[in-house]
Amino acid sequence: MSKIWIFDLDDTLHDASSKIFPSINQSMTVYVSQKLQISHQDAHDLRNQYWKVYGATLKGLMENHGVDPKEFLLNTHDAEELSKFVKQSYALENTLKKIKGQKIVFTNAPLHYAIAIIKSLNIQKYFSAVYSIESTRYNPKPSIYAFRKILRRVGKKARQCVMVEDDLANLKTAYKIGMKTILVSRQNKKTIFVGKRITKITQLI
Ligand SMILES: [Mg+2]
Repeated sequence: MSKIWIFDLDDTLHDASSKIFPSINQSMTVYVSQKLQISHQDAHDLRNQYWKVYGATLKGLMENHGVDPKEFLLNTHDAEELSKFVKQSYALENTLKKIKGQKIVFTNAPLHYAIAIIKSLNIQKYFSAVYSIESTRYNPKPSIYAFRKILRRVGKKARQCVMVEDDLANLKTAYKIGMKTILVSRQNKKTIFVGKRITKITQLI
């Protein structure tokens, strides 16, 4: 039974926390403020509220304001600008090269951004597919719906998959449905649903 490796993108294959996430975060608040004609502070508070209720700004905007997800994602993920923050890594390339078996990316980010980042990292040739937030009808990980949708797309059973991720909630779902799990994190600790913990992706090999 052939194994498939499923990689998260941001903060798993590269560092998004230091520069990219703060920039996206800022763009989202500006977008909400302009779209809904509210102050920067109100936009910030509303986003926090939507995070608590829906787990994402976008879901809240779609449900409550009929915002077009494509427009939102294009406006908040300037791929050209964000790609400038990416640092190519020979060690990353070498790691992916050495991992045998099918590899895919499964990210909560939009496709245009994911593709741009993967190209900037020069690792596109190692992945047979990239699944983004559009692939799961805008239902982000950790929803089971998102995982099931990707499993159907790749035609695999959960037990054939290894999920490599920095986010504990996402690994919890992966574990619950039967995937093997690898946590990539300096902060998060190993828990019952984490099969193995590494502090950076290059420790996979
Ligand atoms: Mg991540």
